[in-house]
Amino acid sequence: MAADVLKEAILQRAAELGFDACRFAPAQTPPHAGAFRKWLEDGRSGEMAWLSKNADRRTDPQLVLPGAKTIIMVASNYAPGPTALMGDADYQIARYAWGDDYHTVLEPKIRALEELLVTFGGRQRSYIDTGPVLERDFAALSGLGWHGKSTMVISRELGAFFFLGALLTTLEITPDQPAKDRCGTCTRCIDVCPTAAITAPYQLDARLCVSYLTIELKGSIPEHLRPLIGNRIYGCDDCSAVCPWNRFAKASGEARFAARSFAAQWRLRDFLKLDDQQFRDLFKNSPIRRIKRRGFIRNVCVALGNTGTQDDIPALQCAMHDPEALIAEHAHWALRQIASRTGDSISAG
Ligand code: SF4
Ligand code: SF4
Repeated sequence: MAADVLKEAILQRAAELGFDACRFAPAQTPPHAGAFRKWLEDGRSGEMAWLSKNADRRTDPQLVLPGAKTIIMVASNYAPGPTALMGDADYQIARYAWGDDYHTVLEPKIRALEELLVTFGGRQRSYIDTGPVLERDFAALSGLGWHGKSTMVISRELGAFFFLGALLTTLEITPDQPAKDRCGTCTRCIDVCPTAAITAPYQLDARLCVSYLTIELKGSIPEHLRPLIGNRIYGCDDCSAVCPWNRFAKASGEARFAARSFAAQWRLRDFLKLDDQQFRDLFKNSPIRRIKRRGFIRNVCVALGNTGTQDDIPALQCAMHDPEALIAEHAHWALRQIASRTGDSISAG
């Protein structure tokens, strides 16, 4: 089968499966391999040890799939519509986590794309965000988007809110052209970042990023950074939300990415009452489940410390006696913060 017929068949199947973009990159050393290693050496990946553990594989697709010729990059739009549910909540959750876990939504789709390639004699490996692949580099190499100053991939058509999947194959397919950097003189993402984690255009210090602090960091959140987190309880996407390229994005057609109904009903302090089982039930099949109750309630305490009022004090006083020391410590901090705003003294309840 001629290469362009194969490419056409893949594009058609990707569209049938609901992917919003599908582009092709050569399975070569990614352009930012050196910069990625330097970033790790500088310690800017924080506690994300797995990134250094498989750095060799991340910077060489041949170690992931020997004989790989092409990396097929797919994207799935999760941009919420104008009437999205989270507007009234007294907390913020990064948009990608408003609905179902994207792995469970997208993995069956990328496997289905793999099946097509098997029929053409290819060997494949595919990943939705969990593999040893520098997805953003290959997305940029394939022309799906460009590396924005925010360090996220930005697409002319999809804006900034889309998931990436990478499918490595031994089949040789004509690569697409890389996209041009269209950030121009814009600096909105850098200016909006609450923690100055984007230390320079295209440079992220993950240790400062709210996504890292509220999701990847397992222990205590450094006290000096807590006030900067505001009311964000799972991730942050401010740098993506302000990107002017979102103006061309359409709302996602995937209902499973829409905000869950609890979002409009729960207040921050209500989350403090969740026990382990209730937490697992509330966040069933949500990415939020990943940080477990202890990480989630820790984040809720930080948000209450930043935004809470006297009405939140009883719930925080209970949380101060939580058997999880991490929660108790963050609840205590939150009470001190509220007390410093209201002039009240704290009691152990
Ligand atoms: S996700 Fe939030 S904290 Fe992280 S770089 Fe973007 S704006 Fe800054
Ligand atoms: S906000 Fe501006 S600078 Fe940042 S990624 Fe988007 S276009 Fe580029």
